[in-house]
Amino acid sequence: MKICEYCFNDEELKAIIKNNNGTSGICPNCGAETILYDTEDLQYISELFEGFLDSYQIHNAGRTLVEELCKNWSIFSPKLNDAQVLELITALCKQYFEEHEGFLNDKIVLKKRLNSDYVANNSILKDISWDEFQRQLIEVNRYHPNNINTDVLKPLFSYIESYYDVSDISLYRARKSYNKKKLDKLEMGAPPPRKSGEGRINAKGVGCLYLATDEDTCIKEIRAGIFETVCVGTYEITKPLRLVNLSKINMISPFKNPDNGDIANIDINRKFLDDFNASIRSPQASTDDPLEYTSTQYIADYIKSITDEGHHRMYDGIEFASTHSETSRNIVLFETSLEKCKCICTNVNCYYIDALNYEFSLR
Ligand SMILES: [Zn+2]
Repeated sequence: MKICEYCFNDEELKAIIKNNNGTSGICPNCGAETILYDTEDLQYISELFEGFLDSYQIHNAGRTLVEELCKNWSIFSPKLNDAQVLELITALCKQYFEEHEGFLNDKIVLKKRLNSDYVANNSILKDISWDEFQRQLIEVNRYHPNNINTDVLKPLFSYIESYYDVSDISLYRARKSYNKKKLDKLEMGAPPPRKSGEGRINAKGVGCLYLATDEDTCIKEIRAGIFETVCVGTYEITKPLRLVNLSKINMISPFKNPDNGDIANIDINRKFLDDFNASIRSPQASTDDPLEYTSTQYIADYIKSITDEGHHRMYDGIEFASTHSETSRNIVLFETSLEKCKCICTNVNCYYIDALNYEFSLR
């Protein structure tokens, strides 16, 4: 049976399938005009699926195989219907289903989900919702909450790292110019420690360098007003950056770490990951209560505190999707000093905001 890269939604499988030999054509499943592969030749992908399925058992409280593959893990493209997904997974794991026929007809569940001790020990939040975690962080205990298991959270970050080498991308940072003059490159950096305002990622006074992947986004992020003058600095990376890419926090692939084999820790924490993702992506208004950022600031500070074996900070910062565009991202670096920061401002453009285009909806 033929299959293509675009039949998958899972980023790991998309990357792996491209390592195989295929032929050009139109995919009979998703309709993409691309390279087609024969499911018979995709031995490694078949093995990955078999390892994935080994984590499951038949159980009435579970879901069907297709629901688990598509709704829970988003492995296949939403363009495919249930019958197509079933046909593809059957072709990929032909032999496996000969030995596990029930998987095709009955409901299945992750074995570890049935182990209450495992669920209790591996849940990021201990018996509370994300909203309740936020409330307690704001109203009860800001710095030492005992209702979050960061030991479970930490390895999940290793699945969503992103790396940028020197000259991989340019980054941008906007600042308003109150005297309407072009700012100097040295003036484009982060405010000095104690002087920084409250942000989604930093508490008041905690320094960090907010950047964006394009000029348009960084101007919108500072909410530049009409008839204001805005300077945009272009930043070049001077040393490789290792970031936690929070835009992928709710899309962790079950095939990311096949040797570990424990996909249950992602599954049982999916609600936390979805809620956290919604929090980091929620639009930011100038009228927002800064206390609303306490939970994302807490997680960002935790990421900042993670160290490697040599007791050096593991991550240079955090990447997350911008609320202003589907494709642009914000990158926030923890180090702000000119000497240690791993990027440098190389150019400044000065803009005048001629007009703003408001779009609004009735509430
Ligand atoms: Zn396809």
